[in-house]
Amino acid sequence: MTGKQYLLTPGPTPVPPQVLAALAEPIVHHRSPDFRPVYERCLTRLRQVCRTENEVLLFAASGTGAFESAVQNLVARGERHLVVTNGNFGERWAALTTAYGADVDMLEYAWGETPDPDDVRARLEERPAKAVWVVHSETSTGVVSDVQALAAAAKEHGALIVVDAVSSLGAVPCETDAWGLDVVVSGSQKALMTPPGLGVCAVSDAAYEAVSDTPRFYFDWERTRKAQSKLDAAFTPPVSLVAGLDVALGLLLEEGLEAVFERHVRLGRAARAGAKAMGLELFSPDDDRSAVVTAIRAPESVDAGDIVKGLRDKHGITIAGGQGDLKGKVFRLGHIGFFDVFDITTALAAVELTLAELGADIDRGVAVTAALEAYEHSTVA
Ligand code: PLP
Repeated sequence: MTGKQYLLTPGPTPVPPQVLAALAEPIVHHRSPDFRPVYERCLTRLRQVCRTENEVLLFAASGTGAFESAVQNLVARGERHLVVTNGNFGERWAALTTAYGADVDMLEYAWGETPDPDDVRARLEERPAKAVWVVHSETSTGVVSDVQALAAAAKEHGALIVVDAVSSLGAVPCETDAWGLDVVVSGSQKALMTPPGLGVCAVSDAAYEAVSDTPRFYFDWERTRKAQSKLDAAFTPPVSLVAGLDVALGLLLEEGLEAVFERHVRLGRAARAGAKAMGLELFSPDDDRSAVVTAIRAPESVDAGDIVKGLRDKHGITIAGGQGDLKGKVFRLGHIGFFDVFDITTALAAVELTLAELGADIDRGVAVTAALEAYEHSTVA
């Protein structure tokens, strides 16, 4: 069939038809009774998905914009901040905090490694910092960090913890209040199953108390918090995206967050089992925590970029290549949000076909079965 497209990347992700229908509704005025109930419900659902009692701030921005709000509100020139990096996005946050004049201390891991809370403790012991900045799910590698333990380490040393949950919120557990996370940043286009364009930022009382005097306007937390609490957005919100997000969050809550998390674990298992059955080597960790994206090494003889290109050009399937030094070496299958096991088997079948076309020596005809079998096993005993 010509033109059929499959979006199997770790973001943007496919959007459910119910959300697409909400996006197509006529535009309403953001200060009218047509919008307010939608806005209110969306904000309530966001608090439920973030598992926080605090206001979750919504910005018309991508995830990076919401992250920049955290930098503008928390970082003062010359102040020390500890940024933990183990991939592309951690490095982005180091660049962003540096751009705002922070004295950035970096706790650097190789791409693909998992940060160790004891290293955070040791570093803060040596050099205290106002906040520790971590990435929950490093989309560039597939590593999902133990944010609860990292937050505990930060708290022991009186530091705030800021979490990039762009690709994790709504896919793997992120207990904002229970884990004491001060700032949780996310975006609409991943597990929240909505088009790109909305940045999300949950902010704790401690973080509000620690705001800096760095100049800011659009991203000023207090301005947005006050306005949202009166359901009177500070600036024109993207009303259609808010309506879409409201429906998407409703779908997640209807499935039940625990069930959603379990589905993601099983999707991760399926992707890894299929890749291994073909004879491929995983780049991302082979464990259940890695439930967001599976990074797979291309066979020695093949450039991963050619796999991505082959899938797209011949089969209409979009997956992601490697970033940074992993470019050409790995390809990534996303499984966040509106995904089921047949999305995984589609991706695996197409990867198998494409690798065969590229002359790679792989085992054919086994990946789909392995994936389906791995998916079948429930994570709850
Ligand atoms: N952080 C992570 C972990 C991501 O996966 C992404 C996007 O891929 C971002 C940050 C950046 O988000 P955005 O592209 O929405 O600005």
